Parts: sequence; C-alpha cells; structure tokens
Amino acid sequence: MIGTILLVVQALIYFVTMAAVFHARHRFGIGIFVCVLGVMHFLETYLAAVFFLPLPFGLISPGSVVMFSGKLMLFLLLYIKEDAETVRQPIYGLLIGNCLMVALALILRLYGSVAELPGYQPDLTFLDQMSFLMVWGTALLFVDSIALILIYEKLGQRIAGTLFKRAFVSLAVVLSFDQVLFFIGLHLVSGVPISALYGGWIAKMGAAALYSALLVGYLRFVETKPALPGPEPLLRVFDRLTFRHRYEDLLQRTGFDTLTGARDRSQFQAMAQSLVDGALENRKPVSLLMIDIDHFKSINDQFGHVAGDKVLKDVAHALAGSLRSGDRLFRYGGEEFAAICQELNAGDAAVLAERLRAAVESATITDLGMRATVSIGVTTASVGPVTVEQMIKDADKWLYEAKRRGRNRVESAILD
Ligand code: GH3
Ligand code: MG
Ligand code: MG
Repeated sequence: MIGTILLVVQALIYFVTMAAVFHARHRFGIGIFVCVLGVMHFLETYLAAVFFLPLPFGLISPGSVVMFSGKLMLFLLLYIKEDAETVRQPIYGLLIGNCLMVALALILRLYGSVAELPGYQPDLTFLDQMSFLMVWGTALLFVDSIALILIYEKLGQRIAGTLFKRAFVSLAVVLSFDQVLFFIGLHLVSGVPISALYGGWIAKMGAAALYSALLVGYLRFVETKPALPGPEPLLRVFDRLTFRHRYEDLLQRTGFDTLTGARDRSQFQAMAQSLVDGALENRKPVSLLMIDIDHFKSINDQFGHVAGDKVLKDVAHALAGSLRSGDRLFRYGGEEFAAICQELNAGDAAVLAERLRAAVESATITDLGMRATVSIGVTTASVGPVTVEQMIKDADKWLYEAKRRGRNRVESAILD
C-alpha cells in the first residue's frame, strides 16, 4: 500500500513540476521543458534497470512507471498544445544524446589505468548496460511517440468519446507495446525476472489512467486556450515527425516562395539594393524587369484559384528557364515577378524581356486550353547611385504602359 501511495506522490510531483515548466514555455521558451525532460532520462533508465518494488501484482520500477509513462504523456501534451514538429525535437535530442553517450563511454576503456578511489570502482560493465538500455529505450521511444500521436489522431474525439478516453487508450496501447519490447532488452541485459513484465504493465496502466486524468485537468483548467485548429491528416503528422517535409521547410526558411520556387518578397527586400549597387560599383549596367500576368483575375474567376496557382507556377517556371544564370527572379507580389539582371544594358534588357514574354506565351499552355501572357516593364541603370525604389517606380511606369497598349508586350524607354 505504502509503495503505491509513494508512486502516486512521485507521479504528482513529476506532473506538477513538468506542467509548470511547460506552462511557462511562452515566457521562457520550450528549451527549459526539453532540458528538464532530458535530465530525467538517466535516472529513469537507471531505476528501470535496477530499482524494483515488490508490489502484490509483481515487480515494478518507479523509473518506468512514473517517469517513462509521464514522459509519453508529456509528449502527447506537447503535441496537443504545440505540434508534431515540436515533439520531434526532444525525441531526436534524446536519441542523439544517448548515442553520443555510448560513443564517449566506449572510449573510456582506452584510457588504461585509472586512479583508484577508496570505496569506488569505475563500473564499465554497468555503464555498458545502461548505455545499451538508454539507446534501446530511446529507439523505442521514437516509435512510441509516432504511434502515440497516430493513435491519438486516429481515435479522434468522435470515436473515443472524451478526451480522457482518447488519451488513455493511446497511452495504454503504446505503453503496453513498449513494456514488452523494453522488458526484452532489460531481461537480456540485466536478467530482470518475468514478474517485472506483468507487474510493470499493470502499474503502467494505472499510470496511464492517472496521467490521462491529469492531462485532461491541465487542459480544462490551466491552459484553456484552443490548441491546433483541427485534426491533422495522419500522413502529414508522420511527415513532420520523420523530417520528410524538410525540403518545403527549407524553402520556407530560406526565403523561397513555396508555390513558384522563386525568391520571395523578403529576399527581394534583402538582396535587391546590393545587387544594384554591386553592378554599378563595377561600372556595369543593371536592369530590373517588372513582370505582371495579364488578366490573372479573370483566370482565377473563370477556372478557380487552384488553376490560377498552376498558371502562376507555370509562368514562374517559364521565366526562370529563360533568364540567364546570374539573374535573380523574385515573386514580388501575388501575380507579379521582378527580375534583377546585372551587367545587362538597356538594349539587351529589352531583348531578354521579349524572350521572357515569348517563353511565357508559348510555355504556359495549361490543361485548361488557355494561354497566360505577361506584360513587362523594363528599366536600366548605368551610373549610380540609384535606389531600388527608383528603379521599381520606373519599371512600373513602363509596365503600366505595356498594359495600356494592349498587354502581352514589353515596354521600356528604349522601345518608346
Ligand atoms: P492585369 O492584366 O491588369 O494585370 O489584370 P489582373 O487581373 O492580372 O490584375 P490584378 O492585379 O487586378 O489581379 C491580380 C489577381 O491575382 C488578384 C488576386 O486575386 C490574384 N492573386 C494574387 N495572388 C494569387 C495567388 O497566389 N494565387 C492565385 N490563384 N491568385 C492570386
Ligand atoms: Mg498585378
Ligand atoms: Mg495582372
């Protein structure tokens, strides 16, 4: 009895502390929460390997029951309040950290003689066992966490009825799976007896119930703001957990527009002036082309926004394929692109712009049976200093002129 009470007390202390740190993430960042979680890991594995209480229903380890079950529940909480991307961070961190620990521990035996201290013996065999268990445990944790989130999403509020049932079933299934596989590791490494398998399992089911109740309480009474807008498609969750979407992510972070692949407006802001300055300082001309899709609104109206997006993509592709290798293409606005071309004089800029116009006209034959065209305004600077704003203003003026004169054309001072 006293053993069970102590377990509950430990679980409550664990939960209250972790929930408080979690709750403070908006003020102090999620890093603190993740670090606390990571620090727990050594004790958790140590206890799971060597510290067992004989309870009426079998041997149980507070390390597994309190901390491991709690950690899974915290991952679920992290997922509910943040997203799979955030959950991924501690999981990968623990996995990498444990592998690193094994590597460093392996090198220890190369030192040869170590100083003897009274009462202490460096126990490398034990360290090996712990290392193995920690890597095995975190490898399982990786699978556990993906399974936990997938089951939680699959169950949905509709099937499971209440949040409590949903959390409990997800935790119970994953903890059962983990219990069997982690026990096999434990049994092989430290000869833990079979009574720890079922004893631990029963205790973990109890932990799943207690932690689910605490999780629900936390979400009901402590952090009541709405979480994610709705259930995520399962595949997307998996993608996030396994880094499959990192390419898109990379595109977003490096300032590329995900729809067209062109550099985005923030990149224009960051790069344009220095491209202009760079050319002019070398006494070379620089041209700016403003490219606007003709009647794009009516393409959207007629064929819908999805088709409109496809046209945008095709246009960007045709433009990118016709520019010179050093030219930079930006998605300047909704259906407007800007190209900055160093070492391109006014005459050549008009020729290049005409090439772009023709490329769009012939290439963007979508499956809609229509063609998209662009109008282009061109401006060139040969002596500095010139601001990008001045150049945009001038190119816009010529773009407007191209629209006025019937669209699907290029206009610049030289063509006037
Ligand atoms: P004009 O020939 O005079 O340029 O006519 P337009 O219809 O292209 O001109 P306007 O600038 O009025 O319309 C641009 C439209 O582009 C309005 C907006 O709904 C649409 N748009 C902007 N960004 C996107 C996008 O990312 N996807 C889609 N499908 N449409 C977009
Ligand atoms: Mg426009
Ligand atoms: Mg337009």
